[in-house]
Amino acid sequence: MKLAQSMSSLGTETAFEVLAKAKALEAQGKDIVHLHIGAPDFQTPPNIVEAGRKALADGWHKYTPAKGILEVREAVCEDIARYRGAEVHPDKVLIVPGGKPTLFYAILMFGEPGAEIIYPNPGFPIYESMIHFTGAKAVPMRLAEENGYSFSAEEVLAQITPRTRLIIINTPANPTGGVVPRSEMDRLVEGLEAHPDVAILCDEIYSRLLYDGEEHVSILQYESVADRAICLDGWSKTYAMTGWRLGWGVWPEGLVAEAERLQINCASCANAATQIAGIEALRGPQDAVDEMCAAFDERRKIIVDELNGVPGFSCSMPKGAFYAFANVKGTGVSSKELEDRFLQEAGVACLSGASFGAFGEGYLRFSYANSAENIREGIRRIRECLEA
Ligand code: PLP
Repeated sequence: MKLAQSMSSLGTETAFEVLAKAKALEAQGKDIVHLHIGAPDFQTPPNIVEAGRKALADGWHKYTPAKGILEVREAVCEDIARYRGAEVHPDKVLIVPGGKPTLFYAILMFGEPGAEIIYPNPGFPIYESMIHFTGAKAVPMRLAEENGYSFSAEEVLAQITPRTRLIIINTPANPTGGVVPRSEMDRLVEGLEAHPDVAILCDEIYSRLLYDGEEHVSILQYESVADRAICLDGWSKTYAMTGWRLGWGVWPEGLVAEAERLQINCASCANAATQIAGIEALRGPQDAVDEMCAAFDERRKIIVDELNGVPGFSCSMPKGAFYAFANVKGTGVSSKELEDRFLQEAGVACLSGASFGAFGEGYLRFSYANSAENIREGIRRIRECLEA
């Protein structure tokens, strides 16, 4: 068989590979502490589960419009008004199966040989993977620890060339927990006025997971780029719904039909009953979100404290999402080797920073979507392993 050349450029998300290795070790009887998973350890709130169950019983068994059920798109717009203070028309919303399809469609739409796409590095690995798949040049936007893992607008603007088609931003960020400050986003958007052909994709999937009163700066708050800004969010992280596969994108008026066409060619639509549950999530009580966020906040402090007690490690306090990105350069060992050693020798699953891009070398990502007890146990094992 001869596969398309582009298949050799397609990367992956190593979190799924580490999960498979961890599961294989567990099957051999090994005890593994999972600090690699990008999913809340909570269950979906019961009112949402009930809405999904009822939707199936009520007969939501068929295709929905490709763009999504109108009521879901309306609920998304209400949510955007409530949490982002921005007005969006439901016509611009595309409901998709998870957070990923919005970025998949956006990168497919702009990427091709000869084009350039600027993306966060270290960042969610699917950005770089998809850019390479399209044949476009992946231009890393360096997110440095000393810059609070935000970008420098000046540096990003200097990277724009006549071939730049798309800039990808992620705030709050995976894998660093970094949050883009309003001043930096202001500067970027202002600078983009000189580049009217460059589109922006802002991945805001962790928008509700913020700590210490940190504000969420959304691309939807910038009217001047509304004709070229794509905003990605979804239900996965906010409502502990990673397995339901439901997300949304707000697209510029001129692109929403193109995105819908990609969806028709691929998924047809998001799962019907899941969409109905999604309405309950957005319009129902939000206490469970606040409770999850408070629990993550507590664990965030525990994990950072624990990580800073490991010889050769240092870890700054993440501002959002549920990841701690520890600097492990002091160990003198590569990130990948530490990832392997901790899994095999200590029974702790975490992720090498290098799997989030070249600028992630020297770091390890720890997810604190796990109990305080497991976090303490995991880091204790790591300390022991390094001291052995
Ligand atoms: N964007 C970022 C930054 C993520 O971390 C993730 C998941 O980890 C996604 C998108 C994809 O979310 P989903 O699981 O809803 O497809």
